[in-house]
Amino acid sequence: MGEHPVHALFGGTFDPIHNGHLHIARALRDELQLTWPGDQVRLLPTGQPPHRDTAQASPAERLAMCQLAVAGETGLAVDAREVFRTTPCYTVDTLTEIRQEIGNEAPLLFLIGGDSLQQLHRWRDWQGIVRLAHLVVAQRPGSDLQAGLYPDVADWVSKNQLPPSRPRLSHGKIYVLSAPPVTVSATDLRQRLALGEPTAGLLPDAVRRFIFDNGLYHGAGRN
Ligand code: ATP
Repeated sequence: MGEHPVHALFGGTFDPIHNGHLHIARALRDELQLTWPGDQVRLLPTGQPPHRDTAQASPAERLAMCQLAVAGETGLAVDAREVFRTTPCYTVDTLTEIRQEIGNEAPLLFLIGGDSLQQLHRWRDWQGIVRLAHLVVAQRPGSDLQAGLYPDVADWVSKNQLPPSRPRLSHGKIYVLSAPPVTVSATDLRQRLALGEPTAGLLPDAVRRFIFDNGLYHGAGRN
């Protein structure tokens, strides 16, 4: 079982992708030792959410920003299977599809921030998700991983948590990354961009250039 490449997926709107996202994707790769041939952490930009009240990049633009962000990054890649869909994409369905592609034995991981773990019970068939994949949770400012979990989720976490290391089983465990939290959010970034406030250091330079060159988020200027 330990012979298989490890596939990790990191779903998000990535509107835009930022250094908080890259920080946890790299932490997953490094803390779980995904350094063997074929190992991959794949960003999985989601389809278009039905209503958004903020300026928003198109699916093609969100995909392009993810591709710019991973260019030259060892072990990071982009999976475009969801981004152009206009019907709801459920994580459990996407993981089912990926499980069919990689076979039953290869470890499959799904990365989320701590704020998403607190919402896990609202996801379609979360128990199905952890029968297909392991969860990897990154700390995020403002979300205490021990507090605020739905009781069934808290119970599952307490029974299945393992310290970060290269996974040997195919699914069903939870790893909490020890990487320190990084305070960047896409909501804050969109506001900064709209107001022309500085964004250097908050997202990759190639992504910042793309945003300015394409006039995304109603940017008032290049800061
Ligand atoms: P928004 O501010 O619009 O909610 P976001 O910054 O949370 O956006 P998403 O694309 O919604 O970005 O997030 C995708 C995943 O990345 C989620 O699981 C979220 O918890 C996680 N995430 C985003 N930013 C961070 C961060 N700074 N630290 C840890 N996890 C993060």
